[in-house]
Amino acid sequence: MSANKKVTSEHFINAESNDVIIKADNVRKDYPNITALENVSFSIRKNEIFCIIGPNGAGKSTIVKLLTGQIKLTQGKITINNLDPILDRKKLVGKFGLVPQEIALYNELTGRENLTFHARLYNVPKYKLHQKVDEMLEIVGLTERQNDYVGTYSGGMKRRLQLVRALLHEPNIIILDEPTLGIDVQSRKAIHDYILDLPKQGKTILLTTNYMEEAERLADRIIILDTSIIEGPARLPDIQKKIFPESIIEFKTTLDVINSEFFDNFLIKELGGEIILEKQVSEQHKLFQFVFGTYDLNEILEKFINYTTSHNISIDEFTIKKPTLEDVFLKLTGKEFRDNES
Ligand code: ADP
Repeated sequence: MSANKKVTSEHFINAESNDVIIKADNVRKDYPNITALENVSFSIRKNEIFCIIGPNGAGKSTIVKLLTGQIKLTQGKITINNLDPILDRKKLVGKFGLVPQEIALYNELTGRENLTFHARLYNVPKYKLHQKVDEMLEIVGLTERQNDYVGTYSGGMKRRLQLVRALLHEPNIIILDEPTLGIDVQSRKAIHDYILDLPKQGKTILLTTNYMEEAERLADRIIILDTSIIEGPARLPDIQKKIFPESIIEFKTTLDVINSEFFDNFLIKELGGEIILEKQVSEQHKLFQFVFGTYDLNEILEKFINYTTSHNISIDEFTIKKPTLEDVFLKLTGKEFRDNES
């Protein structure tokens, strides 16, 4: 019995350490005139979507290039499946699929030919090559255009093709460097849906982006990067909670319900709210924002609903204002996220 227990706990420990697929330890990268990365450490676990978010020039692509063995680090250590991206490059080929930031397709080949060419390059077995290409074209909605030259595709179509091209050889690690940069909303949604499905297929995903909503939609955990890691790795709600420990509710109501009983005694004294905005929005209506010193509003909401219902107070619009990643970035750095964009 005790022997069994020991085996179980050892298994657990092994499983935990095996869980880390990509590890960056105290990484620094100097280019001749600039330090692109400093003190960067993170671990990416199996089956997670790990997102690096940061403005242009933050060092996102430099991390991707280091991970894929395209450049050498100045200091620190990076491992993928415990292997070194440069020294063990041969062992790692085929283990990951890279979707680079730049479109790198053959314009003079058709969509289908581009995929077939790549599949052969990565030794996708002949017996499943055509079926795999069909499947990938279908996933990104390019079946009908498969025999057209890629040179005639829109930017969004090219990005979609490039995404599935990197997945043809069924890699377990997928690195997506700003996969939806500059593409239309519809293509972006198709790509997001596909990325969201990848962890279920046993894939581990590293995604870089400077679209906040992309990180909000896709990421299990994020780091906010600006040469160094300024926040994370953590789940976005945990970061939001840490940076904005308070919550804001907003409501619109008619002037006749604004009395000291409701405002001073209930909202301020009993619930501990503080009024931060009061605005006349029509002849009859005022809009209010109250801030509460808690992230978890459940109890406050319950009391608010009970009170307004039992006192017949009509609330016309009610919103809980959650901070966005954009708000988080602004508060952390004092910079608008897109200030640095070229
Ligand atoms: P991001 O992908 O977040 O936009 P990069 O990793 O491309 O950022 O760049 C980080 C910093 O390193 C930037 O200041 C960029 O100008 C600089 N940089 C990137 N590549 C090189 C290079 N080959 N030589 C010199 N500086 C570079």
